[in-house]
Amino acid sequence: MTYRINEIFETLQGEGTFTGVPSIFIRLQGCPVGCPWCDTQHTWEINSADEVSVARMMDKSEASPHWATMSSDDIVELIKQRGYRAKHVVITGGEPAMYDLRALGEALEAQGMRLQIETSGTYELLITPATWVTVSPKLDMPGGYLVRSDCLSRADEIKHPVAMQKHVDALDQLLKGQRLNADVVICLQPISQRPRATELAMKVCIERNWRLSVQMHKYLNIE
Ligand code: SF4
Repeated sequence: MTYRINEIFETLQGEGTFTGVPSIFIRLQGCPVGCPWCDTQHTWEINSADEVSVARMMDKSEASPHWATMSSDDIVELIKQRGYRAKHVVITGGEPAMYDLRALGEALEAQGMRLQIETSGTYELLITPATWVTVSPKLDMPGGYLVRSDCLSRADEIKHPVAMQKHVDALDQLLKGQRLNADVVICLQPISQRPRATELAMKVCIERNWRLSVQMHKYLNIE
């Protein structure tokens, strides 16, 4: 099993339950969901012309659609070579659930690492049982993908971007009748740090005992 890797880097997790936790981010190439506000649009297409060596992919100084092919063993080796110390690994994208992530998860867990996947919930999850699942449901997006019930019921965390009341209503509608984990964490994340969105998210989180996710990395201006 190989993976198309857009970037691998070490930083702090900026969102959700693990905010502030040192983390290795593995960004996979490819996403057909098409969210208009997506801040990783360079990961959408998988063009063979954009394939580069692992060295070139790791040397990138800015966001680009270039990706490299790596196996689980390659990724474990690269993490060792780079001297990364984080024990939390965030698999993101793009839409990482387009890939079978079991081999990668097993290889990283064998190194004592904990995995988190950030997914739109539109693909069947092929992950290890221990993987922490963050579903950020993307509803009515141009790609036409539906958020899957099996993803929602596997979620450890549901993280929803909000700007207006209609986004909260859409989440309510989505979760109605779904079987969720008893201790699932529901986070609201204001879109683009807009003050009105933040105000709304705070209000709803307090009313419902949900969590606010503020994208700490954007306030700190880190990757
Ligand atoms: S699912 Fe994620 S990567 Fe894909 S378009 Fe939406 S925000 Fe971007």
